[in-house]
Parts: sequence; structure tokens; C-alpha cells
Amino acid sequence: MATMEKGKLSVHTENILPVIKKWLYSEKEIFIRELVSNAHDAIEKVKKVALTEDIYQSDDDQYCIDLKLDRENGILIIEDNGIGMTADEVREYIASIAFSGAEKFAEKYLKEGDSGIIGHFGLGFYSCFMVSKQVEIESRSCQLEAEPVRWVSDGGEEYEIGVGSRQKRGTEIRLHLNEEDASEFTDLARVSELVRRYLDFLSVPIRIDGAQVNRQKPLWTQQPAALKKEDYDEFYKYMFPHQGEPLFHIHLNVDHPFRLQGILYFPRLAHEMDLNKSNVKIYCQQVFVTDQAQELIPQFLTVLQGVIDLPELPLNVSRSYIQNEPVVRKIASHIIKKVADRLAHECKNNRQEYEKIWNEIAPFVKYGMLSDERFYDQAKDALLLEILGSDSNRLVTIDEYLAESKEKDAQKIYYASDLQTQGQALRMLQKQGIQVVHLGTMIDSHFTGLLEVKRGDVKFVRVDAELHEHALDKESDSSIVDEQNRDLKSRLQDLFKQAVSNDKVTIRPEALKSEEIPAMILLPEHQRRMAEMSAMWGEKENPFSSEHTLLVNTRNPLIQKLGSPGILGAGGAADSKKERVARQVYHLARLAQGAASPADMEKYAQEIFSLLQEMV
Ligand code: ADP
Repeated sequence: MATMEKGKLSVHTENILPVIKKWLYSEKEIFIRELVSNAHDAIEKVKKVALTEDIYQSDDDQYCIDLKLDRENGILIIEDNGIGMTADEVREYIASIAFSGAEKFAEKYLKEGDSGIIGHFGLGFYSCFMVSKQVEIESRSCQLEAEPVRWVSDGGEEYEIGVGSRQKRGTEIRLHLNEEDASEFTDLARVSELVRRYLDFLSVPIRIDGAQVNRQKPLWTQQPAALKKEDYDEFYKYMFPHQGEPLFHIHLNVDHPFRLQGILYFPRLAHEMDLNKSNVKIYCQQVFVTDQAQELIPQFLTVLQGVIDLPELPLNVSRSYIQNEPVVRKIASHIIKKVADRLAHECKNNRQEYEKIWNEIAPFVKYGMLSDERFYDQAKDALLLEILGSDSNRLVTIDEYLAESKEKDAQKIYYASDLQTQGQALRMLQKQGIQVVHLGTMIDSHFTGLLEVKRGDVKFVRVDAELHEHALDKESDSSIVDEQNRDLKSRLQDLFKQAVSNDKVTIRPEALKSEEIPAMILLPEHQRRMAEMSAMWGEKENPFSSEHTLLVNTRNPLIQKLGSPGILGAGGAADSKKERVARQVYHLARLAQGAASPADMEKYAQEIFSLLQEMV
């Protein structure tokens, strides 16, 4: 072997290597990413040089990166046929570690105890000392007359450099692994997993013991016009297996003011939404960096899945750095805008398809609007309301709803949140030709509040919140039967007041158009919302324990019977029976709205049974 010259690593910060080693301990696997990215860069460089210069060729038929696992000796070899290095280059690039960067790095980030990437500080290569007791480099530069070079270091301050023996162009890095790391990083399954995780999309084939392991083809770098839906779906399946088809995708391609490429997918949200899990993988020039990109991806968008490639962002640095980096905020707003634009576009131009996915994306859109004002502003045209129909439901925008509405009071939007307990009131409105929308999710009560504030021209009213004027039978009210009617109402008023015997309940006898319903409970919108709010804060208050109205239908035969003249107030048996029946009417109205507690139910049942007993 040729004589080796002694050299000293030029490191400005004392003992930086041990610090780096220790600091990165938890993530030492990333050395593979660093070394293979270097190999990839070396290949990209030689491709460029070859375009304009004569270069030293070896007989490789293909650019590639070879990993070789020597389990027996605990050696991992990473070899490329890239640009290679001359001895001077090794001294300059490898031995002096570009330490201007390292110093800054140490000052700023080591203290924070954060983990991250070090590549951008020109420290990438040194990460191999986290797992190696000794590292050898054999390199042959692409320059025609260059001599092969050999460099050996044990990670201390001293290294050896001399003439090497490599004949092929490129670089071979031999890692003599630490005992505790040797079995892990010569394990085929483990190393393959790491290559796939970090380097799957590198454009150069990466082989382990001769077999290619990386997929290459990063779909996001291709022109959207050249891709079909199947390509996107296939890529999604590859990245996120076992999730079914995505609802749709957005291909991002930005040049200014930062570079960004990526594909975001709307997954089917059939499964539980897990907003803490990050489903977006961040790449830097096709090298996987992290899937912990909470700063980049606004929280409400973390339901999205996909990849984002940021060739320029110094992602290698700490959390706090990322948070304070203005470009990060710009990226986040860009993503928000793209998603919103896409939704609005789909809603406007592709309405039929959009309607098909609306119910699945609605919770996400609403949640997004509640958590980010910009998203509301940008996506507001992509909102649909579901109008409840007798056979099938129909989706309309808010503007369409308002335009269709027969109301004088056009701004009112009637909605039902629970089709069962609000069924009575719902059907009553529908019979009058009032369009009722379905807002059945937890988030809707907040969301309607947001819409009211933001738009200013709508008011959401739950079907059972008030008595809709169309439901009233004005004809029969204002006819000759006026006086009789007034007596009936006042008798009912008295009877129900006594039967319910609760100051918070207002009795309101009215003639409804429909005879069917004897009575129903109205709960003012604002009051119910307050009760819902306090329930949110943990105060479990039954909205029916506060003020509400009992609407008694004077056209219903049972009610008419109850209101028939009798010797009221005399306390006769008939009276007391009427009172007991009236009380059950109230109870049933409460039951219909699901507002009875288990204790109430028991009480109601007792009373009804005793009434029934008297009938037989
Ligand atoms: P960085 O890659 O961030 O510049 P590194 O410490 O990883 O920092 O590498 C320092 C330099 O060493 C690289 O910029 C490159 O010039 C050179 N280098 C490293 N590995 C190789 C390789 N496999 N082939 C050719 N040059 C390399």
C-alpha cells in the first residue's frame, strides 16, 4: 500500500465530533441517508460534467449506488460511480468538514437538544461516525489524470490520506461498524427498510448486495398534464397502503417565492380522523426528511395525505427555527390556498362529482373553516347544504338555498340536527314547503355560528326552535269561531299550566294546519345554543330545565277534548283526569324530543300505567 500522510481535521469547535455523535445518537440511522444522498449528488454532478467535458470512464453500464453488507466483518460499504474526489478534494470537502457551518450549527442548535438533520451544515458525511469506529474512503475522480485517493479516519482529529487503489470512477466508503451497531446495519431487512424509507425516490438505482431496492419514480416531480388519475391513485396506494381510493388529489407545483412540489390526497375519512397524526411526508429533493411537519401543514389539513418536496427549505434545523421561518408560514398559506381553490373549483365546475364526496369531506371543510379564517374566505364557495327530501336529499349552496326560499324572511335557514327527535317539527315545516337542511354533526352548531357571523345574511334556526308562521292555520283562527276559539285557548292555557306546573314553561295554544300533532315543545334557538355551549364546557345542563314553550294544537281532537268546557277549578274527578292526561301530553312532547332523563321516563311510565289502569 502507498505511504499514507498524516493530517489533522480542521475543526474550530473543540471536540465537535463527540458532540455530534452523542447528539444524534437517537437517530443514528440517518447516516445512511446522508451517505447515499452524497453518492447521489456525486452521480448528478458527473452527469452534468460529462455533458461538456471528457471524463474518466469506467465500464459501468449504468449509474448506480451499491450497498454491500459484510455481516461477518461488521462492514457496510457504500459505493457510487459518481464524480469521485481527488486527494485535494478529500482534504477540502471531507477533512475540513465545512466547519464554518458546523460552528454555527453547534452554537445555535446543539443546546436545544433537538433532533434534526445535519446535512445542510456540511456535516452529513460525519454522521457515519455515529455508527463506525473507522471509516475508509477510496475514490477515483472523474478528472482524466487524477490519481486514486485513500483516506482513513477513526473519527478523531487525526486522519490518514494517501494514494489509493480504486480503478473505477467514483467513491467507495467502507464503514467499520461499532460492535453495538454492526448487526443492525449489516442486516439486509433493516438496511432495505432504511433505504426505502429515506431514499425510495432517488432517481438513481440503489442496490443492496446487487438487488435494487428503491422505487425511483417520484410522481410529484412529473408534469401533472402527463399524468392520469390512475397514476395518482397507484402512487397513493403505494405510499399509503390499505386505505382505499383517495377522494381526490391536488398536485402542487410552485416556483415563487419558494420552490415546492408535491401531491396531497384527500383520503376517505370513513375511519376515525386522527388529527395528531401527520400524514404528509416531507422530502428534500426526493430524500425523505420527516413526517413530523406540523409547522408546515396547518393542523386542520393534517387529514390530508401525501408528499411535499421542498428543495430549498433548511429542514435540517430545529423546531423553533422552523416556527420562526417566514417561508414556512408562506408555505402553509400556500397549501391552504391551493386546497381551498381546488374545492371551490370542483364545486363550481364539477358539481356532480363534488356532490358525491361532499358528505365525506364536509367535516374537514367545516373544521378547517372554523380553525382558519383564510380557509373560510377562500373555500366559502365550496360549501354545500343538504336539503332533506322525502325520498332523497339534495345538495345546494347557501346562495342557492336563499334564492329558492319562499320565505319573506329569506335569510332564515331551517335545519334539523336529529331526524328522529326533531321529526315532528321537521315534517310540519316540510308540509308547508319549507326547505329544511340537515346539520347533524357535532361541529355544526359551531359552524352555523361561524356562517352567521361571517356572512351576516343568514340565520340558522332549528326546526323546533320556533313556530313557523306557515304552520299556523290562520283561516280557522280568524273565522266566526273566534270567540269559541278564545275560550278554548284560555281553558287549555289554564289546564296545561296546572298540569305542567312549571314557571319556566310557557303554554301556547295555537291552531296548527295539521291535526296530527297534539303538542310540541319549542326551544328558542339562542337558548338551546347556550345550553349546548355550557354542555361543551362540561356543565351538563338539560336545555329543558330552562325556559321553553309548550305548543298545544287546538285543531287536534285530543286537545279539543281536553279543552272542552267543564267545571274547571272545582277539583272534580273529571278535571283531575284531564289534568293528568294533559301532563302526559307534555311528557310525550318531551319524549319526542329526546329530552327526558331516565328518571323522568320512569315517572312518565308510572303515570301512564295508572291512567291505563283506570281505562280497563
Ligand atoms: P454536504 O453533502 O452537506 O456538502 P458532507 O459532509 O456530506 O456535506 O459532504 C461534504 C462534501 O464531500 C460534499 O459536498 C462533496 O463535495 C464531498 N463528498 C461527499 N461524499 C461524496 C461522494 N460519495 N462522492 C463525491 N464527493 C463526495
